[in-house]
Amino acid sequence: MLRAIPVKDLDNNKLLNQSVKVNGWVKTFRSNRFIALNDGSTINDIQCVIDLDKNKNDINLITTGSSLEIFGKLVKSLGKGQKFEILVDKLSVLGPSNSENYPIQPKKHSFEFLRENAHLRVRTKTISSVIRIRSEISYAIHKFFNDNGFFYIHTPIITGSDAEGAGEMFSVSTLDKSHIPLSPDGSIDFSKDFFGKETHLTVSGQLEAEAMALGLSKVYTFGPTFRAENSNTSRHLAEFWMIEPEMAFFDLKDNINLAEQFIKYILKYTYEKCKDDIEFLNERLAKEEMSLPKDKRSELSLKEKIEFVINNDFVKLPYSDAFEILKNCKPNKKNKFKYKIENWGCDLQSEHERFLVEKHFKCPVVVFDYPAKIKAFYMRMNEDAKTVRAMDILFPGIGEIVGGSQREERLDILEKRIKELNIDSKELWWYLELRKYGSVKHSGFGLGLERLILFITGMNNIRDVIPFPRTPKNADF
Ligand code: ATP
Ligand code: MN
Repeated sequence: MLRAIPVKDLDNNKLLNQSVKVNGWVKTFRSNRFIALNDGSTINDIQCVIDLDKNKNDINLITTGSSLEIFGKLVKSLGKGQKFEILVDKLSVLGPSNSENYPIQPKKHSFEFLRENAHLRVRTKTISSVIRIRSEISYAIHKFFNDNGFFYIHTPIITGSDAEGAGEMFSVSTLDKSHIPLSPDGSIDFSKDFFGKETHLTVSGQLEAEAMALGLSKVYTFGPTFRAENSNTSRHLAEFWMIEPEMAFFDLKDNINLAEQFIKYILKYTYEKCKDDIEFLNERLAKEEMSLPKDKRSELSLKEKIEFVINNDFVKLPYSDAFEILKNCKPNKKNKFKYKIENWGCDLQSEHERFLVEKHFKCPVVVFDYPAKIKAFYMRMNEDAKTVRAMDILFPGIGEIVGGSQREERLDILEKRIKELNIDSKELWWYLELRKYGSVKHSGFGLGLERLILFITGMNNIRDVIPFPRTPKNADF
């Protein structure tokens, strides 16, 4: 029995004039003769040419969306648009498709429509490209860390600490919602719950990754992360995938350098590995931008944007410098920002981040040494006692893509910060112990996988770069 050859591998002179078997789904069927078949292994369809006499019985079943098994000979194509095609000897329809109702018609669909058909949208060129790229990026992430001496760590998805401090959390419970046990003071009695305490889905694996790094030196996590943020933006998901390296003996500068090196490696690897998909997405974005007014179009194409990031140093500046630039910039003075920049210490909103990246520096930007007030308790206090060794990496079109810091390794200062912020330190006993037994300077960051995919694919909405997005009021599929 002949094994089916992935469509991707048919682009091969060695197979010329050989008998081949191929499986796939019908993209289009023209003139009762030309089938564009695709199995998802590549963006390029294979054209299969049928002989009406040989395949008379099946002709009505060859419809858009149906699945086929085809035996035939691979030949040079005379037609435009493809090098090779298959002259069909034998064809079987594996699964017919009622093409009148089939949502994925050979025409342009809106991304909203495709989201409502998320179970079928991977059969479009755009979404299949994105998902293939997502897979290659994930592989490149593991490869980078593995090649650089990092250990891959699985941190818990269910967490008993609500001190991770990165956003609203989803609760995890097996309590009967219609008979919730109460304590004498009227609050929920979580001692009756599955874990005997209140638990949530994790918003970050960082605290546990720190414990692992303070024994293995260089580790990373790469897993699902949950935030019940009701923000409904094009850059936030309720369930996303985060990469969190954590390194002992690294200070903030080492941390920033690693993050820059890491991002460039991933972009370069994917750019070279996914040429056809990126070429297609480059064209897609160019076409989409043609419908925008001239001043809204980007100066660079998708490919140029990726190349630019790979080949140029990120700009690095302290928060205080970023603050001065923003305070004195035209849009701020003319009240064009929704949040006016006035006093040192204010948080930077995405409009400010994007001004710095897209208008001022026209380059990825690393902002570091943020005011302690707007950052988490575990970030290392600077000598000025006002700023912490935090860093955010800001990207064009996206805003924050990485958030990280050098961690506070001094027990007394960490305890003081926890108290100031009114955090319940009971849950953090083990985290504090790490500072008692061989504490060392250490650092790490979190990179949102989907934000990176947005950048490399030129897609606009984070819902379109994960197979089945979870967002407020949406957990279908
Ligand atoms: P933002 O200000 O954009 O909400 P954040 O400050 O909450 O980000 P961190 O807690 O630093 O983000 O998380 C690290 C990284 O995880 C971010 O830089 C971003 O790439 C990604 N990220 C954070 N929240 C989300 C989300 N809801 N959906 C997708 N990615 C996210
Ligand atoms: Mn957030």
